[in-house]
Amino acid sequence: MSILGVYNPLNIDVDHGDGVYLYSKDGTRYLDFTSGIGVTSLGHSHPSLISALKDQAEKIWHCSNLFNIEKQQIVADKITKNSFAQSVFFCNSGTEAIEAGIKVIRMYFNDRKEKKYKIICAKNAFHGRTYGAISASGKSKLTQGFEPVLEGFKQVSFNDSKEIKKNIDKETAAIMIETVQGEGGITPAEKQYLKDIQKIAKDNEILLFFDEVQCGVGRTGKFLATEWVKELNPNLVAIAKGIGGGFPTGALLLDKKTTKSMPQGSHGSTFGGNPLAMAVANEVLNFVLNKDFLDHVREIGYNLRKLLKDEIISKFPHLVSGVRGIGLMIGLEAVEKNEILIESLVQEKFLTVKAGQNVIRMLPPLILEMKHVEEAILKIDKAFSKL
Ligand SMILES: *Cc1c(COP(=O)(O)O)cnc(C)c1O
Repeated sequence: MSILGVYNPLNIDVDHGDGVYLYSKDGTRYLDFTSGIGVTSLGHSHPSLISALKDQAEKIWHCSNLFNIEKQQIVADKITKNSFAQSVFFCNSGTEAIEAGIKVIRMYFNDRKEKKYKIICAKNAFHGRTYGAISASGKSKLTQGFEPVLEGFKQVSFNDSKEIKKNIDKETAAIMIETVQGEGGITPAEKQYLKDIQKIAKDNEILLFFDEVQCGVGRTGKFLATEWVKELNPNLVAIAKGIGGGFPTGALLLDKKTTKSMPQGSHGSTFGGNPLAMAVANEVLNFVLNKDFLDHVREIGYNLRKLLKDEIISKFPHLVSGVRGIGLMIGLEAVEKNEILIESLVQEKFLTVKAGQNVIRMLPPLILEMKHVEEAILKIDKAFSKL
């Protein structure tokens, strides 16, 4: 009772983790396809991350942005060299990166003396728990009891560019969506939809802000999921979960024109970009920015989805009906209630997490190997056979 009861954890006392496995205090080994909700991108206790963190811990932990932080510069350079971004703002979580993005959108038009502040978002979206983020999502489950929320956000159907077009007026400042909806049920934005909103943004001189807190940093087999569509030119992208490999880190990536609108003193964070976080993020990027690593994510994700289709969906059509997702961001569409299926998987020591639209969500670490995929399929088969 001393922990505020906002969560509903599984009855597993976590002891330690190793790669794709999580161990409880009683010594049980679980195959972990949650990765702490897509966070431990290199698996648990990755030796390179441990030594990066230990080395940094012996030098300096914290000095805030009162001083130049060498590793922050290195990480920002790596990100800008490998993406659309001109600059990076570091923070400590996904919702902070979203909050920063919303502020940048307002400042950008304020700078140009234009009265644009409205943001068109998607139904079924999740952007975090701060006021900007819950206002953007608009979901009553997030906002109920917390009203009034920030004004100026309008939610329209995801993957429907006509709906966006219809809702643009002269005060519209930006379109803000997840490139792949995560909490909402692992729904990728369609390529044509992304091309369409690029054109809408250009025609109406509004900004494009993508939430890649869950789908960014290699999760889909590209560094950013927006890279799947060459024509796309994001103005802002929020990342977080995967970038710190488990160390709380978030970042907002800004293009050239939005970078210019954020002068000294306009935003900040005491902890953001601190030496410990940056030492780990730097090491994560050494892996994730590697072409072979991203090829591996695409290939192993494809194999996992294929085996789920061929060996699970076909055998248990009364329990699960389809597979969705991209790279290692995978959703198994449940027929039976997803919570019941997830619990049956826990019984086989296989950890997954639920998502909207009755989906069983799998976000295994990106270092997943074929033997883990096979182990997962066996466990699912065993669990579902008992139902
Ligand atoms: C998790 C998530 C967030 C919020 O991140 P926190 O670190 O929990 O604040 C925002 N957007 C998306 C798409 C997410 O999956």
